[in-house]
Amino acid sequence: MKDDNCIFCKIANGEIPSATVYEDERFRAILDMGPASKGHTLILPKEHFKDVCELDEEYASKVLQLGGKIGAAMKKSLGCTGFNLVQNNGTSAGQTVFHFHMHVIPRYDNGAPIVTWEPGSPDSEELKETAERIHAEL
Ligand code: 5GP
Ligand code: ZN
Repeated sequence: MKDDNCIFCKIANGEIPSATVYEDERFRAILDMGPASKGHTLILPKEHFKDVCELDEEYASKVLQLGGKIGAAMKKSLGCTGFNLVQNNGTSAGQTVFHFHMHVIPRYDNGAPIVTWEPGSPDSEELKETAERIHAEL
């Protein structure tokens, strides 16, 4: 299904032009217009899924492998030495476009920090209790 009001549906299906890195029957991968680093790519399904919780199994089973393939091609073509696969779900997580997408972000030696956090220091009781709460909803 496509969503007529969704810009990523239009880009993924070629209705709006984009710098396309890769295309097959399920996905289009395009350069991000506000890149975190040179070559920052977004993998867009051609069908509309709001986020990873909606993504169907067929797409889910392919997207990670495609991210790895594009990352490997970036290392050969752009000279990056690593890459991050980043996928945001929900406003609090930084999602701004509500059509599932996976970021493939090339990382260069001595490049700016991109995906970072301050590690917390929970004790083992808190880790156990948190794990149990999540597990109970699976
Ligand atoms: P999010 O924050 O939702 O995970 O990522 C959305 C990304 O899409 C951002 O990095 C933003 O720069 C990119 N973006 C938003 N609109 C467009 C667009 O129309 N074209 C392209 N190429 N990138 C877009
Ligand atoms: Zn869409």
